[in-house]
Amino acid sequence: MSKSLPLELPQLQNWSCHTCGGCCKQHGIYITAEERQRIIDQGWTEADGIPADQPLFVEMGHLPGRKWWRLAHQPDGSCVFLDERGLCKIHGKFGEPAKPLACRIYPYAFHPAGDYLAVGLRFSCPSVVENLGTPVVEQRSELQRLARLVVPEGARATTPPKLTDKQPLTWEQVLQLVDAFDTILAQEDHSVIAKLLQAVQLTDLLTAAKIESFAGKQFVELLQLMLDAVATESCDSAAPQPPRGIVGTQFRLLAGQYARKDTYSTQITWGSRWSMLWAGWALARGRGNTPALQARLQSVPFASLENPIGVLPVAADEMLTRYLRVKVQALHFCGAAYYGEPFIPGLHSLALVVPVVLWIARWLAAQEGRAAVGTKDVLEAITIADHHHGYSPALGTWTFRNRIRTLAAMKGIPRLIAWYGR
Ligand code: SF4
Repeated sequence: MSKSLPLELPQLQNWSCHTCGGCCKQHGIYITAEERQRIIDQGWTEADGIPADQPLFVEMGHLPGRKWWRLAHQPDGSCVFLDERGLCKIHGKFGEPAKPLACRIYPYAFHPAGDYLAVGLRFSCPSVVENLGTPVVEQRSELQRLARLVVPEGARATTPPKLTDKQPLTWEQVLQLVDAFDTILAQEDHSVIAKLLQAVQLTDLLTAAKIESFAGKQFVELLQLMLDAVATESCDSAAPQPPRGIVGTQFRLLAGQYARKDTYSTQITWGSRWSMLWAGWALARGRGNTPALQARLQSVPFASLENPIGVLPVAADEMLTRYLRVKVQALHFCGAAYYGEPFIPGLHSLALVVPVVLWIARWLAAQEGRAAVGTKDVLEAITIADHHHGYSPALGTWTFRNRIRTLAAMKGIPRLIAWYGR
């Protein structure tokens, strides 16, 4: 039974809620019919600070005999149940179990990985990015309780992700690959950029070698040979080159998608559709000034997003390394946890989050008139980008996934990592 699946917890991650209320301002909380009825039965009125004309729910779709909803938002984008102190009214009045399941789980994510559940975290939460709170490994019993609420029966039978679009893998091979990439990312004497370039090199070797046709000991030995090869090859001998042409265009469109903030608080109108089209056109062109993509990312010169950063602050390097390791260990880049993507394209998507984060961090600094990018900018940029990673429907579309494949086919991914990591 899935309920007995053991948990694999990230060893290097801490987390406790610091009641910043950020999650209640930026996520759409989808609810079941039972959760909707439970909230109706809680009897919310103006005495609880909920105006009579404020709807509690928004219908998001329906099929014959079935509807689904999300919680409504206040005009400022906050959940209808978030109070002025940043606390949840449902939690305050009826206790934690009375909240929708999505709120109880956040920022955790549970991903079936063969005969165990890999536990990941969403880095849209600033406390996760800053590694604040209790070590996750000390929260096992609480996480086991949450896992029982979310993991469906039969999770043990989940199909492993393929290596590429056509090459199947066993769960054993998937987990050996995860270990290999984690080994690269765990190296202590390399910057996150150097490690990521090694990881992308390993994806190239894996794709070329058709490693999935090897089994057991041979698979492990070949993988070790590849790890040795990428560890000895220098990734940074040539000066980074700016992304031009299709690589530059595709990257700006991809980064623009990560930089958006969709709070669900505003209605989609012809005006908002037009401004999205205009923003896409401006990002594709990449000249003059950027479009304002959200309140934290106002218009700045595109050129300011291409300036060198220099060596990343140690704390920012550590955040990005931990981000990648937690995502890799939790399989939060492929298979059921990531739009059904195979292992290699999923890993390419994850690798691209780093140049995206550094592009957004430059933007945050530039709009405050600063040339220097600091740890604070990187921290906020991670929260902005990871809000979408694996959750935004836009990232799961054919167009977006094809964009990653185009960048990989043009050898653009290491160029982008090296350019924005400099
Ligand atoms: S129901 Fe409560 S915990 Fe969930 S988003 Fe709303 S305020 Fe936050």
